[in-house]
Order: sequence, then C-alpha cells, then structure tokens
Amino acid sequence: MGFCINCGQQHPDGTRFCRFCGNQQPGEPLLQRLRIEAQQIHSMRLQMQQQPPGNPYQQQRW
Ligand SMILES: [Zn+2]
Repeated sequence: MGFCINCGQQHPDGTRFCRFCGNQQPGEPLLQRLRIEAQQIHSMRLQMQQQPPGNPYQQQRW
C-alpha cells in the first residue's frame, strides 16, 4: 500500500495516478531516493545532537 503524495489517500502499490485526486505518484526509484535522503538527514541530526554542548550561558558562571 502507498499513500498519495497530494491528498494522502491510500492506494495499492504500483499505482501511477491517484484515483482520488489524479495526482501522479512517484515511482519506486524516486521513493528509494527519498528514503535515503531521509536517512541521511536523520543521521545528520543525530550527529549534531551528539556534539558537546557549547552553551555560552553555562560557561559564563561567575
Ligand atoms: Zn491523491
């Protein structure tokens, strides 16, 4: 099952056009690319969270 990228309705795998709104659906290669990009963004966010805190307000305690 897939979801329409335009209206969000469910449709069977391999559907080229949404039967609810008629929007063309991305093919499997594009979906795979989007998944890879999403994973890269996710790992980038994890790396940024793992960096040591550089909060100037905590370092300037008198
Ligand atoms: Zn749709």
